[in-house]
Amino acid sequence: MEPVYADVIIDISARSVDRAFQYRIPPTLLEQIHVGTRVRVPFGKGDTMRHGFVVAVTKEPDFSPEKIKEIAATEDGAVPIQDQMLCLAAWMKSRYGSTMNQALKTVLPVKTKVAAREEKTLLSRRSKEELQALLKEAGQKKYKARVRLYKALLENESLPWGLTSQKLGLTMSSLKPLLDKGIIEIRTEKKSCSPVPGYETERQIVPLNGEQQRAVDTVLQEYAAGIRKTYLLYGITGSGKTEVYMELIAHVLHVGRQVIVLIPEISLTYQTVMRFYRRFGGRIAIMNSRLSAGERYDQLERAARGEIDIMIGPRSALFTPFERLGLIIIDEEHEGAYQSETAPRYHAREVAAIRAQMNGASLVLGSATPSLESFYRAQNGEYALLTLTKRAKTASRLARVQVVDLRAELADGNRSIFSRRLSSFIKERLEKKEQILLFMNRRGYANFVSCRSCGTAMRCPHCDVSLTYHKDDNRLRCHYCGFERRMPERCPECGSPYIAPFGTGTQKLSEAAERAFPGARILRMDADTTARKGAHEEILQAFAEGEADILIGTQMIVKGHDFPRVTLVGIMAADLSLYAPDFRSAERTFELLTQASGRAGRGELAGDVVIQTYVPDHFAITAAAAQDYMQFYKQELLYRRLMGYPPAVWLLSIQMSSRDEKALLRACEDMSGYLAKQFGLAGPSFIGPVRASPYKVNDIYRKILYIKNERYDILLKIRGCVQKRMEAADLYRRILVQYDL
Ligand code: ADP
Ligand code: ZN
Ligand code: ZN
Repeated sequence: MEPVYADVIIDISARSVDRAFQYRIPPTLLEQIHVGTRVRVPFGKGDTMRHGFVVAVTKEPDFSPEKIKEIAATEDGAVPIQDQMLCLAAWMKSRYGSTMNQALKTVLPVKTKVAAREEKTLLSRRSKEELQALLKEAGQKKYKARVRLYKALLENESLPWGLTSQKLGLTMSSLKPLLDKGIIEIRTEKKSCSPVPGYETERQIVPLNGEQQRAVDTVLQEYAAGIRKTYLLYGITGSGKTEVYMELIAHVLHVGRQVIVLIPEISLTYQTVMRFYRRFGGRIAIMNSRLSAGERYDQLERAARGEIDIMIGPRSALFTPFERLGLIIIDEEHEGAYQSETAPRYHAREVAAIRAQMNGASLVLGSATPSLESFYRAQNGEYALLTLTKRAKTASRLARVQVVDLRAELADGNRSIFSRRLSSFIKERLEKKEQILLFMNRRGYANFVSCRSCGTAMRCPHCDVSLTYHKDDNRLRCHYCGFERRMPERCPECGSPYIAPFGTGTQKLSEAAERAFPGARILRMDADTTARKGAHEEILQAFAEGEADILIGTQMIVKGHDFPRVTLVGIMAADLSLYAPDFRSAERTFELLTQASGRAGRGELAGDVVIQTYVPDHFAITAAAAQDYMQFYKQELLYRRLMGYPPAVWLLSIQMSSRDEKALLRACEDMSGYLAKQFGLAGPSFIGPVRASPYKVNDIYRKILYIKNERYDILLKIRGCVQKRMEAADLYRRILVQYDL
């Protein structure tokens, strides 16, 4: 058997954590040792026995194996949560190549002064009938905020103030008249750690259907048997995944353990949060980016003290210091938001797997469109696959999807951004007083160039990704291989002069819709209209309450909202995300189209989806139209194998950046030369260094090296060598290096 090594930190503390020592794991201990395990090791000249913590496990020794000492024993007993978090930081540092400081900042809450903690609760002082009457009156007077409040109070007799003000867009001053009239009351309790009163009686449990029950049973039977794994819950939109999560949570709480639920911030709506509240009451805390540092710290302290058992939030909620963590759930696991953009550039899925291992917790990943990586692992048996194939509400059906070829529209003389089919559907819906979503995906995908006549996008001849348009010098560049060319004046395929950087914004779309459908009430939701605090929720609420006929927006509108009166979804330009300069562009497109299609026909009414595109035959579009994940998965995996992209191979990207461009270029040259010599790296498995996109950010120049390999451990070894080279050579003093594997 190949020897395995562990990086061990001796006598853990925030100061000692930066320095790990390597030990050999004796074969007898192999099964027991993972990140976070407490061990006893011989240390120093006299080999005195010291306590240590494992922060990484690897097959690659850092220096000659004869010199590596062996771990003496493992130690039992619970590891204090603070030490666990330090181990996690140390693991993240080595995994993602950040500094220890960056890793610690990510993992440990920043201590901030918090005002004496009080908890406010909003209570109704009227009966349901009286509330109904008030609701009607507020509706007639068009007091939107009050309508929302009364509706919420009809569902729950009391509401946590923080959540209510955040999610319903209410302020103290707007509530003053109601307080004065004695319609509502706000109760303030200092340091209450008991559940908010009123919830206990409101619990609602939906009986699960057969598929849901099977998924729950599988996890719980293994849980009871002490088996911990990663599960992939693959269930179509509306199949009832959230109900499955809640059932699992209920059980895990019942056996005295705690739960972290990750939900992308964009999907963490009032409706979603209330579903959890109704079931679990006040043992929940919610984390989001709008909390102040003090509020965050407070939440995490409550978790550490054991005052709460469920933390719901975006990726940072993963670092909730629960002592008895038993389950981690990652909803919408395919979401890009789970990847951190700043160092350490961690992925929540990976960190969750390590935390789950450290705590003996199970990990459940859920999605209607699983990431290719996760589904690949489920196919390999690395994850256990659970499937939900039907919509949970019996009346709700998947929508009919039609694909419209925009080239044909232009050829027939229709220059409008609405195809004839979409246009006639919209008119019909407006007449029937049903609602419409128009989806325009722009964010993050600007700057590729395509031909309006034939639909051809300007692509890299070497990489099969779109070229990025750089306005400053009017050139097109491939950010994978560095290929570049001048911006052509005519389409290289058909000679048409209608060639331009792509993209109509949501604002333009909104104006076009006003002209094309006079009298229609239109709401727009994008980065501009949601900049103000609370605006996001307000727009969604207004639309849900029928205050508009058409909601126009970016991907913000396709995430997890339930609008029962929406019967038509129009996808204005499906290609926008297809041409993103990224090997995942087809995956993103499929995912967005499927999620957007899932918005139609959620209620009793049948739904239609119209996908407008220049490439109706592209498999991401045909598969999304058929709502067939497996068809997409098979095709896409074939493509990844062919091109040598993950998950078919592992990809190590090394980003080097510096304010000093010359120093950066010298370092890049040195690194490629060094790696070529050390590993004989050449050809398609060794790309770059190429300019990152964008190349210069905040006066910092960035270049990336890509190295592909079928073996993970080889890439780890290469990364180790890169690290050593950097520490050794003076050349790298002004260079920051980040890794992504
Ligand atoms: P997902 O998370 O997969 O999108 P949800 O859990 O949000 O699905 O469920 C979609 C809708 O179906 C919700 O309105 C939910 O209340 C309802 N639902 C879920 N499970 C059931 C069930 N077993 N019986 C009836 N309705 C259900
Ligand atoms: Zn053309
Ligand atoms: Zn290229």
